[in-house]
Amino acid sequence: MAKYGFLGLGIMGSAMAANLVRAGFEVTVWNRTAARCAPLVALGARQAATPREVAESCDITFAILADPAAALAACRGEDGVAAGIGGGRGYVDMSTVDDATAQHIAQMINARGGRFLEAPVSGTKKPAEDGTLIILSGGDRSLYDEAAPAFDKMGKKRLFLGEVGQGARMKLVVNLVMGSMLTALGEGMSLGLKGGLDGAQILEVLDAGAMACPMFRAKGPMLLAGEFPTSFPLKHMQKDLRLALSLGEELGQNLATTVASNELFKRVRIDGHGDEDIGAVFRAIR
Ligand code: NAP
Repeated sequence: MAKYGFLGLGIMGSAMAANLVRAGFEVTVWNRTAARCAPLVALGARQAATPREVAESCDITFAILADPAAALAACRGEDGVAAGIGGGRGYVDMSTVDDATAQHIAQMINARGGRFLEAPVSGTKKPAEDGTLIILSGGDRSLYDEAAPAFDKMGKKRLFLGEVGQGARMKLVVNLVMGSMLTALGEGMSLGLKGGLDGAQILEVLDAGAMACPMFRAKGPMLLAGEFPTSFPLKHMQKDLRLALSLGEELGQNLATTVASNELFKRVRIDGHGDEDIGAVFRAIR
């Protein structure tokens, strides 16, 4: 059985790595803040001191880190993934980054004789816990096929989208849509409440019609309660909108609605609520 490594034990990584350990795989974990490895070690994972040690000792190393800077930091330097990869071993980066970052990492890994696959995910904390993520991959097809047994413990659906960068682009498209849907829900809710409507009834009406969706079902009650326990940190969504806008610049695509959504998310992050859930965008709307 393949030996797996896992870098990044945040909200998503801790749940995804736990699913690999529970499935019976031999898993070696690393996290920048080492204390966050303890629950995984208690489940049966081995803990490594550096990303390099993980990449050296595992057939396939998975990572899910905060942003482009974090994804690059884990690869660089004498303790980084690139220093430990080689012999055709695999590196699968599941972080949400832009296509240029994914391509840069691919070059670093390939230059050291490793294989690279980007595989960002759609789905939040609960799907990560339940193993029902949607995995959006691009890069080395042989690595995609070899990683399938692990992907199938982490996700309910996986796609191979082609070259490195296409997974990143797909993920940014998904989050662009999600960010704008959430701001639209918040504006409709706020307008309705000011107009004397009952918030629960607004959600009930939306849920009965063509706009019914799991996200409104999950986030609607959060907006009404004014409490935002974190599944998807708002700071990460704002990063994704920023990256989507940058892709829009590069490809010459008008993204007027995304610009407006991004400004709302940015306001809330600047006000110090970036670690709250994306539902906290409602703070900037109310
Ligand atoms: P999180 O809970 O904030 O965890 C971030 C992880 O990145 C932690 O392990 C953190 O280590 C690590 N990290 C941050 N900066 C680093 C650096 N400079 N060097 C090395 N490690 C660093 O985030 P998350 O919610 O799990 O999200 C992780 C990624 O998945 C993000 O790209 C996010 O956009 C994406 N994503 C999230 C969700 C979601 O619903 N949460 C859904 C889909 C995709 P420390 O513990 O040391 O801080």
